[in-house]
Amino acid sequence: MGIKVAKFGGSSVADGIQLTKTKNIINADPDRRYIVVSAPGKRFEGDNKITDLLYLCKTHLEHNLPYDQIFQVVADRFMAVEINLGIDLDFSPYFDKIRENLKKNPSADYIASRGEYLNAILVAAFLGYDFVDTEGLIRFDAKGKLLAEETNEALKAELEKHERAVLPGFYGTGPDGKIRTFSRGGSDITGSLVARAVGADVYENWTDVSGFLMADPRIVKNPKQIDVISYKELRELSYMGASVLHEDAIFPARMANVPINIRNTNHPEDPGTMITDDVARYGIKDRVITGIAGSKDFVVVALYKNMMSSERGFVRRILGILDDYDINFEHLPSGIDTVSVVMSGASIEGRLDEVLEEFRSRLRPDSIDVIEEISLIATVGHGMDRRPGTSAKLFQALADAQVNVRMIDQGSSEMNIIVGVENKDFEKAIRAIYNAFVEE
Ligand code: ASP
Repeated sequence: MGIKVAKFGGSSVADGIQLTKTKNIINADPDRRYIVVSAPGKRFEGDNKITDLLYLCKTHLEHNLPYDQIFQVVADRFMAVEINLGIDLDFSPYFDKIRENLKKNPSADYIASRGEYLNAILVAAFLGYDFVDTEGLIRFDAKGKLLAEETNEALKAELEKHERAVLPGFYGTGPDGKIRTFSRGGSDITGSLVARAVGADVYENWTDVSGFLMADPRIVKNPKQIDVISYKELRELSYMGASVLHEDAIFPARMANVPINIRNTNHPEDPGTMITDDVARYGIKDRVITGIAGSKDFVVVALYKNMMSSERGFVRRILGILDDYDINFEHLPSGIDTVSVVMSGASIEGRLDEVLEEFRSRLRPDSIDVIEEISLIATVGHGMDRRPGTSAKLFQALADAQVNVRMIDQGSSEMNIIVGVENKDFEKAIRAIYNAFVEE
């Protein structure tokens, strides 16, 4: 018998109907032995996620406002599901304990984690699986950084004792023994840690979409789904804005060579997207590009200085200034006597003039041009590697669509071509690239 770790996101466990689908999925494959759950998410447009309600409790507590009604809404949702599905579980001691702790003004992390905690207890009872709390198993250091190896050992040792178990996502414990959470969406990370610890054959991440699409469906009509994607490709696409999975969820599974399969709870028949380093195993041969992603609102600062190429330390000083201001740069395309610094608009907001002044006084450039409202678009795929004509096709498509390219950056891995265009051309450019490579 193999082992599959299945993580179910908020929408997959939002109410009785969704939980019934989840149970059917789990029961359809006896290998699905370790289940990780998020807190219940939205049941419909405009509904509240349990996690958001819990954070709201904390805000009320901090401002000395009554919070009991908010917590009651949380409790009612769990009880409604319990009654609805006829689960034999007495929630009152759990609620009483949390209410007791709320009086002591606990941390936001503690309060927020209770959504996953209660839900894992509920789902374990519903499935007849053991409940294994991640408190004390997933460990963080004093700064809130995950202690990956300690966590792996602790999870491994505990899960060996359980044939089948449900674990809450999103949280663990700090060195002071107090609850710590990951950042939002962090149950994906828990699933990945569990998959590594039990040496799973696959880490299934069940959500409300059938995996990754080749482009944003708000821009491209009915984009094709990506069947298989490598970790590197995913990293490039996620960085540029395509998000389905928490980005820190990749590392533990990848480290243990566990492929991640994104699946749709509402369409379990869809194979979804497989994330793996072994793309070849899935028979992808003729694919040139895997996906296109991008985001808007970058700022480009172009510096020109005669004889820059022979001035040692110029780029180091640019980076020193960015460091002083704690600004990340995204790209640094350069020419003989020019270099452009590409930064996200948000990272430099309100500080642009100050940073420009630093550039002027410490770098003494002959000129500085600032180009705002730039979008970056990444076209990603291992299939581009050593395939002549790929960039020609891409730029021809942009030219035909009358899109002016303001910046180009291609990494030496040849799996990613990044172009900078004006914000107003963003959607048009993505559609042009998609049509050239996919619809042709
Ligand atoms: N419930 C948490 C959140 O809403 C964590 C998760 O669902 O992954 O962010």
